[in-house]
Amino acid sequence: MSARPLPQLTGLAGEFYGFCKVRELRFQRCVDCSAWRHVPRERCGECGSADFRWERSSGRGRVYTWTVANRSMHPAFPSDASVAPVVVEMEEGVRLVSALENCPPGELAIGMPVEVVYEDVTETVTLPKFRRRA
Ligand SMILES: [Zn+2]
Repeated sequence: MSARPLPQLTGLAGEFYGFCKVRELRFQRCVDCSAWRHVPRERCGECGSADFRWERSSGRGRVYTWTVANRSMHPAFPSDASVAPVVVEMEEGVRLVSALENCPPGELAIGMPVEVVYEDVTETVTLPKFRRRA
């Protein structure tokens, strides 16, 4: 089995995953117009400003959409198990691709309330995942 693909811990993405490592979900927020953004990037998509802060997310969001893959597309993942990549829309308005823990694909629903949890994948990489919330 080959190694699981992992994010590179460099640049702004490295900063994002550094916060995940200490159990903080933070997104960039523009200093000039207050717009949130994700994935990490140099400039604000609303006003073009390069000034931002890493602000802490509530960690809460809702399932925006998902898909079910019934066949692995990478040798690091089991070929006989379904996986369901989920797009979560956070309360701050940004969206991120992740997965729900303990939620079979058949139970997924658009609008399902979720909250962040963290998975230590390696000693250096921690990924934000989600679970259902009431
Ligand atoms: Zn802005």
